[in-house]
Order: sequence, then C-alpha cells, then structure tokens
Amino acid sequence: MKKETYTAVVLAAGKGSRMQSKVKKQFMKLLGKPLVYYALLEFQESPVDEIILVTGRESIDYCRKQIVEKYGFTKVKEIVAGGKERYESVYEALKVASMDYVLIHDGARAFLDEEIISRSMKGVAEYKACVIGMPVKDTIKIVDKDQYAIETPKRSLIWQIQTPQCFITDEIRQAYEKMMAEEAKNITDDAMVMEQFGDRRVKLIEGSYENIKITTPEDIVIGKALLKMRRVKRKTFQWLRTLHH
Ligand code: C5P
Repeated sequence: MKKETYTAVVLAAGKGSRMQSKVKKQFMKLLGKPLVYYALLEFQESPVDEIILVTGRESIDYCRKQIVEKYGFTKVKEIVAGGKERYESVYEALKVASMDYVLIHDGARAFLDEEIISRSMKGVAEYKACVIGMPVKDTIKIVDKDQYAIETPKRSLIWQIQTPQCFITDEIRQAYEKMMAEEAKNITDDAMVMEQFGDRRVKLIEGSYENIKITTPEDIVIGKALLKMRRVKRKTFQWLRTLHH
C-alpha cells in the first residue's frame, strides 16, 4: 500500500489588529523567536511531508530569510501570499497543496505539540475530515441583538474549535472552490466550508487547553508562561534520562 502523505498549511497572513501593536502579531517576539516560528518548528519536526506558509505579500521576503532559511525549516515548500480574510488565505494554500491530506493550522497557535499533530494525522486518515477542539469549560449562552440571554445550550455538547483542521486535500479544495464561486459569508473555520459545501461529516478530536490562539495582548503573557513551563518540562525530562543512563 502507498504511504499516505500530509501537507501542513501554516497561516500567518492576518493583520492582528486586536493585538494593538506595530509589529504584526505573527512576527512578534516570544522568548526571542517570532511567534510563527513555534508552529513551523513543530511541523518541521513532525512526520508531515511538506509545509506551506501563508503570509502577507509584503512579508514573504522576511519570512523566507528571517524565519525559513534562518531556522532551517526545510519542509517549507512554498511561501504564498494570503488574502484579506482567513478563508482567502486558506484557498491560496490549497491551490498549491500537493499531498493526500492537509492539516490547516493557525500560525498564531504557537503551542500545538507532537501529540496534537499525531492525533490530527491519525484522525484524518480514519475519519477523512476532522478538527481539533476542546469541550468548553464555561457555560455558553446565545443572546439576542440586545444582549439578553435567550438560550443556554447543553454544555457537554459544546466544543471550542482549534486547529489543525484536517481533510483530504482534493475534497476540501473542491469545497472551497464551490464556496468561492458563491458568496461566502462569515466563514471562520475550515470545518464550516466542509459542512456547507462538502459531503463529509467532520469529526471532533481532542486537542489541549494549551493550544490557544495568541490574539490579544494578555495572550502574550500566557504564551510566555506556557513556553517557560515547556522548557522546564523538557529540561526535567532530559535530566531524568541522564539518570537512567
Ligand atoms: O483572525 P483570526 O484570529 O481568526 O486568524 C487565525 C489565523 O489565520 C492567524 O494565524 C492569522 O494570521 C491567519 N489569517 C490569515 N489570513 C487572513 C486572516 C487571518 O492567514 N486574512
């Protein structure tokens, strides 16, 4: 049987306006490295076969020299210019994705890890369409336009959605092509495109509460703490290993 192949799409073409900073959010430094470095590193070290990085046209050069070449991300096959909306950026990447499956990931989610990538790859091979998410911890309410509560859905059935979002490349590309031909409305993730324009049911797979999207300034504080915690974990693990040898 032929080995199945995987493309990772890393999205970094957003404006990051909610961050209120001069430097674009995806390139803000977190412990000395640009934010998008962390997701690229995880995919570089994973079994995925190729990475497509999507960024603003004006940032392509910076990404190539200061990130991809500097850190030796050899799996990055192409750096493509994104669009105004997230779904437009995804569509540009899907035009060049060439593997069997595609894992679409927000570059602003710097804390995905080996296990999430592995669950994504296994999940899409089994279910053909899956997204990473977590059950919500808070009660969720639907409100009307005047901000009065009108409904409280059962919490156990509500998940917050993260990325990677994973599909058969040809299938999600076709769903995107259909959507682009019609008028796209309020598309905030890729599962929505599959739900509305494709034929696959999308399975939810457990991610992690650490897999946050860096969006507003307080997320940077949380992000730094998470990275430091990981460093300590890694060092402890290495130390324990030396004790065994
Ligand atoms: O805007 P939002 O927080 O949903 O963005 C999620 C991810 O999509 C971010 O990593 C952002 O850089 C990316 N994005 C993009 N192109 C856009 C808008 C967002 O690549 N036009």
